[in-house]
Amino acid sequence: MTRRSVEIAIVGAGFAGLAAAMTLRDAGHDVAVFERADRVGGTWRENTYPGVACDVPSHLYGLARHPEPNWSAEFAPGAEIQAYLERVAARERFDVTFDAPLLDADWDQDASTWRLRFGGAQPAEVDAEVLVLACGRLAEPRIPAVAGLESFPGPIFHTARWDHGVDLAGRNVAVVGSGASAVQVVPELARRAASVTLFQRSAAWIVPRGGRPFTDAERQRFAEHPEELAALRARLDAEGEARFSSRSGGADAAAAEAAARAHLATQVSDLRLRELLTPDYAFGCKRVLLSDDFYPAVASGGVALEPSALAAVEHDELVAASGVRHGGIDVVVFATGFQTTRQPYATFVRGEGGTALAEHWAAGMTSFASTVVAGFPNLFVLNGPNASLGHTSSVLMLEAQAEFAAEALSRRAPGGVLRVTPEAEQAYTRMVDERAAGTPWLTGGCRNWYVDERSRRLTLVWPGTVADYRAVIGATGGSEFDTEGPAVPVAGPALPVNGGQA
Ligand SMILES: Cc1cc2nc3c(=O)[nH]c(=O)nc-3n(C[C@H](O)[C@H](O)[C@H](O)COP(=O)(O)OP(=O)(O)OC[C@H]3O[C@@H](n4cnc5c(N)ncnc54)[C@H](O)[C@@H]3O)c2cc1C
Repeated sequence: MTRRSVEIAIVGAGFAGLAAAMTLRDAGHDVAVFERADRVGGTWRENTYPGVACDVPSHLYGLARHPEPNWSAEFAPGAEIQAYLERVAARERFDVTFDAPLLDADWDQDASTWRLRFGGAQPAEVDAEVLVLACGRLAEPRIPAVAGLESFPGPIFHTARWDHGVDLAGRNVAVVGSGASAVQVVPELARRAASVTLFQRSAAWIVPRGGRPFTDAERQRFAEHPEELAALRARLDAEGEARFSSRSGGADAAAAEAAARAHLATQVSDLRLRELLTPDYAFGCKRVLLSDDFYPAVASGGVALEPSALAAVEHDELVAASGVRHGGIDVVVFATGFQTTRQPYATFVRGEGGTALAEHWAAGMTSFASTVVAGFPNLFVLNGPNASLGHTSSVLMLEAQAEFAAEALSRRAPGGVLRVTPEAEQAYTRMVDERAAGTPWLTGGCRNWYVDERSRRLTLVWPGTVADYRAVIGATGGSEFDTEGPAVPVAGPALPVNGGQA
């Protein structure tokens, strides 16, 4: 067992961990990154299913500090994004320890230190003044409990754990789920499998994607004229922020829904199929998907749409909730998403008094500034409570959170403690609830992963634009924190409520 002390330990080396490492190191801190896998990348290392790609334009879905002129297309394939993250980590020469799963994190009150215990081939104990959890929110695949699943004789895997050893050519494949991963993988499977049976519990709202490849000349121009790349990113940012209105039940929602209905009508002529593919809940309630080839694949005849959930498995026969039995299935692919509301780290990160984050969050995740949690000093959680976005690039939010962490740490005396007050967390939670009230995420009549199943509160999505979030964190003046050691705080203005378009 090795032992080491660091100033800031960052756990997780996806977009969030890399953004935090860059920002905190720039602010003069010593950072050490710990990653349970053997490479950086997170989402893009794990999701290698056929068709995987970003659904936010690539030139916006990247780190501001590392603009990339060479994306092959407007929506880059996952492997390119993975290669990009590996390049960024190499360029930045981060201190990353791989094969280092965090198993326990305990706040030692007397020493004002996080005591961390990592597993892996070389278990280690690390003392950290500050802990940054960048463990992701779509990192733990969710496979529903299906009666008789163990009786299935063939391969079963999740889209985030794709088994590339299984040749799907000529096989009868069942896909369970019809969300973001399914709309990307189904057209690919329809091309190579003998048949695809798609279990759709609820239809998704789907809008046109576009996404042409970039020419060599365009890529060269981006490389030679960084100002053009910056202008493109600024335009995509503005377009993304403008989408918040349609995704949150604002003034543009009706027009966006009409566009989705027109897209479906254009691509699916069979009225019965069209009906089955039409969602029965409000536009925006679940993540709105982008695809030009999902509907044609389903309409092609190569995909059998089962408009209900998978209820049971009896050997190679899959029984739908509708009662229909689908026999002769060779492979089952779960495109059933991730555990979002209860992150594994919450069970083993313990703050003041030994309280686990999971206990503090027994009724769903809460925070101040979507990043710090009362009772958990010197801790920053990225991409945790109310930090997801449904309308634009998540990276923008992660970068803003990293900047918030750097700003908050600037209030901390060397070796001191930064403790957000319970009152600040409660006020922020009230503000989130007020912004969320009346949005389709809560009232749209769907079951989505943004809402905690225990409290029915919106706990995953930030209910505003990225600019709104930056305005909120920009308004924090330090009065939200108790600091030990020489005090820095100044009284800050009250947090704005409903300042955005929600
Ligand atoms: C298929 C797919 C497509 C997506 N497309 C988009 C898109 O187009 N646009 C968009 O904005 N968002 C998209 N997302 C969301 C995406 O997850 C985020 O954009 C972003 O990649 C999240 O980065 P992260 O660093 O927070 O988390 P992750 O990328 O999940 O990284 C977390 C890292 O933490 C590590 N880790 C976790 N627990 C531990 C532990 N206990 N110890 C050590 N290490 C640990 C993991 O191994 C992982 O490397 C997509 C998600 C998926 C699944």
